[in-house]
Amino acid sequence: MDKREEDDSEEAWLQLRPVEPLPSQCCGSGCSPCVFDLYHRDLARGKVDDLEIQRAYTPISPANAEGYFEVLIKCYPTGLMARYVKSWRAGDTAFWRGPFGGFIYKPNQHGELLMLAAGTGLAPMVPILQSITDNADDETFVTLVGCFKTFEDIYLKTFLQEQALFWNIRTFFVLSQENFPEQLPWSYREKTHFGHLAQNLIEELVSSCRRKPFALVCGSAEFTKDMARCLLCAGVTEDSYFLF
Ligand SMILES: Cc1cc2nc3c(=O)[nH]c(=O)nc-3n(C[C@H](O)[C@H](O)[C@H](O)COP(=O)(O)OP(=O)(O)OC[C@H]3O[C@@H](n4cnc5c(N)ncnc54)[C@H](O)[C@@H]3O)c2cc1C
Repeated sequence: MDKREEDDSEEAWLQLRPVEPLPSQCCGSGCSPCVFDLYHRDLARGKVDDLEIQRAYTPISPANAEGYFEVLIKCYPTGLMARYVKSWRAGDTAFWRGPFGGFIYKPNQHGELLMLAAGTGLAPMVPILQSITDNADDETFVTLVGCFKTFEDIYLKTFLQEQALFWNIRTFFVLSQENFPEQLPWSYREKTHFGHLAQNLIEELVSSCRRKPFALVCGSAEFTKDMARCLLCAGVTEDSYFLF
């Protein structure tokens, strides 16, 4: 596909996204369905207990993947979408829209990416990391810090260990509730911290970056807020980080 065809097909795809009504389009007299009900019905793609639901998930497949995409979904015990996802069987069809929004990665744009991810916040880091290591001309350094409760909870261990073999990639883990730190595999011991990712470690990481870091942060709202504060205290200015 040439560049123009690619732009056209992306535009056509984005046009499928339903347009959110303006507040002024709702007459406020309680119509059923109201314009907002119709908008949400258009967005909704999962059905649980007759309730139509939709949730956002981040593709972890390479940005140039064609004909497929992969996602990393954490199924919460009481989650509505989790129940729907757990009901899927091979061969089922599920409806997806997107991709929408996000951070546009350009090779060699930053000297070093400092990725701070908590839990499934790892997802948006995966395709960026992969596009760097897949491209021999991309000399961006990456320091990825993954925060999880326990060693068991670390997602995509094999992928992350393989990525860490590249000359420009280093990975660290911060485990907040690991009960058996002494049982950690040897290959993780030097790069794993216990407790929470806090100011002192952020400062250490920032100062150990080999080039001026640009930070990418993804996790819960609380994690993101904490990391933004720590980065600012560590001298990383607002134009040098992106909060997913
Ligand atoms: C832009 C964006 C990208 C996302 N990408 C991903 C992704 O790649 N992978 C992924 O697994 N999720 C991702 N999420 C979160 C996802 O959209 C859902 O919120 C999540 O899967 C829960 O949906 P659910 O219907 O199963 O749970 P719900 O029915 O919405 O919630 C049930 C219970 O689960 C717990 N819960 C729900 N969400 C969270 C949370 N984030 N942290 C802690 N507890 C929670 C709460 O206790 C809640 O009461 C993303 C969210 C956004 C906004």
